[in-house]
Amino acid sequence: MTGHERSYDLLFRDVDIIDGTGGKIRRGDVGVIDDRIVAIGDLSTTGARREITGNGLALAPGFIDVHTHDDALALNGNPMEPKLTQGVTTVIVGNCGISLSPLKPGSPLPPPLNIIGDSDDYRFPTFRKYVEALETRPPALNVAPMVGHSTLRVAVMDRLDRPATSSEIAAMEILLQEALDSGAIGLSTGLYYPPAREAPPGEVLALLMRLAPSGAVYTTHMRNEDDFLEESLRESFETAKAANVPLIISHHKCMGRRNHGLSHRTLKMFDEVRKTQEVGLDAYPYTAGSSALLPEMVEQCERVLITWSTPHPEHNGRDLAQVAKEWDCSITDAIDRLLPAGAVYFHMAEDDVRRIVSYPHTMIGSDGLPRGARPHPRLWGTFPRVLGRYARDLKLMSIERAVHKMTALAAETFRLSDRGRIAEGHFADLVLFDPKSVIDTATYEAPETRAAGIRMVVVNGTVLLEDGKIHKLRPGKVIRRAATT
Ligand SMILES: [Zn+2]
Repeated sequence: MTGHERSYDLLFRDVDIIDGTGGKIRRGDVGVIDDRIVAIGDLSTTGARREITGNGLALAPGFIDVHTHDDALALNGNPMEPKLTQGVTTVIVGNCGISLSPLKPGSPLPPPLNIIGDSDDYRFPTFRKYVEALETRPPALNVAPMVGHSTLRVAVMDRLDRPATSSEIAAMEILLQEALDSGAIGLSTGLYYPPAREAPPGEVLALLMRLAPSGAVYTTHMRNEDDFLEESLRESFETAKAANVPLIISHHKCMGRRNHGLSHRTLKMFDEVRKTQEVGLDAYPYTAGSSALLPEMVEQCERVLITWSTPHPEHNGRDLAQVAKEWDCSITDAIDRLLPAGAVYFHMAEDDVRRIVSYPHTMIGSDGLPRGARPHPRLWGTFPRVLGRYARDLKLMSIERAVHKMTALAAETFRLSDRGRIAEGHFADLVLFDPKSVIDTATYEAPETRAAGIRMVVVNGTVLLEDGKIHKLRPGKVIRRAATT
């Protein structure tokens, strides 16, 4: 046992340790010095500057939100409250093809680039500048950044409604390489969205070839998640395989009533493909999605809520059909009048969500959008909802499995070293929570409410949240891809 010569900075005594590996919960002590976990076991003989007693509480590795759009939120020096209060200690940014960098200030910001920020936020002509900004003014939580393919397209192309030419691909490769050299942990695409819709698999493959030597990962919001879901999965598998890069399918879902139930088949596809290549996936525990307001997305929905609208903020939080009715116009016309805007889309079946979230290889990613007056409740509730509703109440998985999805599985898949487990030598990212009461409280009507049951959150050894109180500190680090030379 180590650490006996010096007392601990933090000592968790008699806590129920859920170590992130999926292994059984066990009672014990955990000692922290500086930013690291240094000892686990019976530490009753050593003193500590601060002791926290378990009393039936569980101690887990801090949750890793693998799918976020917190690129700008992380920069703003705030406590990242929606994530911190869920027990999240690390966020992965740059998802769905969109990242704040590299893009020259003043560039056009076609949707969905505007879901992560506006022109004031897009001020980093190189990826290094973004990373430096995060390091100069560190975030509250750890941030692992990816670079987005749509952002690269906007940076080098005069119009986006066509495939990139070979010289444009070459220009994107240079920007991508700069991002990788500056520590980007991966590349994301958002092939569904207009800025990247016309990008053929060959364009993506050319960029992915750059990833292979670096050990970076590829995440994709696929070309289609409704009527061509299976085709899109196959395209993603094939492109990643051709480049020999690890693939993560973002927010896996079966959209639109006629596609409900397809997860039976798609999860079998994951089982099959995982025999021959590295493929992971993430999901959020809700039957509604959220994004920019787009007419083609509205078609697949039972119901659409407006989360924000620049010209009509008075309709934030309202039902789109209702607004169209009041305006006495078609849905399409109402959308035109509301743009630029964001929306919540009800288009999934609860059975599919349960099946996907409880699939052993699924990680948890909130996909929360920290913009807009009435955000989707996943921004504030995702992790406690999986723990409280899907694991404890519905018994779809054990609490250890649920924690594994949010911690070690995420760290392994995205290659975040020394995080995601309660292990000696690992960073002291920790969450103390009450397994009996942990639950989300955010709803579509009142989305900005803190989850219940999260007692304490520690980031790199610094206590950031305790008993409802947030300390305005910024112990977060930029997690760069480990150099592989
Ligand atoms: Zn997405």
